Amino acid sequence: MGRVYNFSAGPAVLPEEVLREAAEEMLDYNGTGMSVMEMSHRSKAYKEIIETAEADLRELMGIPDNYKVLFLQGGASQQFAMIPMNLMKNGEADYIVTGQWAKKAYQEAQKYGKANKIASSEDKTFSYIPDVSDLPVSENADYVYICENNTIYGTKYKELPDTKGKILVSDVSSCFLSEPVEVEKYGVIYGGVQKNIGPAGVVIVIIREDLITEDVLEGTPTMLKYKTHADAESLYNTPPAYGIYICGKVFKWLKKQGGLEAMKKYNDKKAKILYDFLDESKLFKGTVEKKDRSLMNVPFVTGDEELDAKFVKESQAAGLVNLKGHRTVGGMRASIYNAMPIEGVEALVAFMRKFEEENL
Ligand SMILES: *Cc1c(COP(=O)(O)O)cnc(C)c1O
Repeated sequence: MGRVYNFSAGPAVLPEEVLREAAEEMLDYNGTGMSVMEMSHRSKAYKEIIETAEADLRELMGIPDNYKVLFLQGGASQQFAMIPMNLMKNGEADYIVTGQWAKKAYQEAQKYGKANKIASSEDKTFSYIPDVSDLPVSENADYVYICENNTIYGTKYKELPDTKGKILVSDVSSCFLSEPVEVEKYGVIYGGVQKNIGPAGVVIVIIREDLITEDVLEGTPTMLKYKTHADAESLYNTPPAYGIYICGKVFKWLKKQGGLEAMKKYNDKKAKILYDFLDESKLFKGTVEKKDRSLMNVPFVTGDEELDAKFVKESQAAGLVNLKGHRTVGGMRASIYNAMPIEGVEALVAFMRKFEEENL
């Protein structure tokens, strides 16, 4: 069997070119006679890999010099604890709950201080982004937390919240590098890379330098202090070395595609094909408010669970895989990250048209 169109929400599709290159370098990376997996993270060859990866990421996102880039482990979920442990100097923070990941972060933060839920879209199963233009931001909040793209529900903030001067912390796991960002607007931007950048096992944290201090929650483990990793340039202990190497290749690939402006254009075009079809279809329909639609994760339903299951089964057989919706919401979800080619979305829509004709 050849390559399929993989619509998985994560771990997810990677650029074929990157995978081929990695395969070529598997046994002998750049004349070292070994794989990157076998190499010391203190070696000259590896130092160059991680430094180049950081430099390329900085260039892609336009990361200012007063921000650190950290390559960490523990997935995005570990940040749910690291953020309050390191940033809750007043012991209080505000959370906007727009889905399961934001909710988990909010619940985890309650262990370390006072976490306030200042807005939520749970009343309508997270099918929209609440109005964040005039929030009741708490006076003592150390930060305002958002999950910028809601992977499970398929919503995305089109405007950042007005944090009334507080630091904005954002989980961008499922929209990382999908469009340009203004890094200066955030205190912390972070994401697990397995959605849009690389293999699971790496989480990237972009954090303003003045937020990295020794003044953390008492008892915070050494490994969970941003300062530990910032001081050691992400090499305090053995990093997820191979994963970072693949991320570096994806950064090069993104630069070759024309950077984040070009990705945004491409992603807009891809998503439009699918959304336009959903809006005209008599069988399928999108599940979220149009103004809040994500460019990366597109959930849809037929309204009939049996038909949904049939669709998932038949699409799988047609080489369009992992279209089943998240186990908590059902229906279908197409994740169309950076590395999903437009041909994949076209093939999906063609299949949906055919399925509609056969089943309506
Ligand atoms: C997948 C995901 C997570 C969880 O990532 P892990 O690396 O599995 O911990 C958190 N936030 C968002 C937005 C996600 O999509």
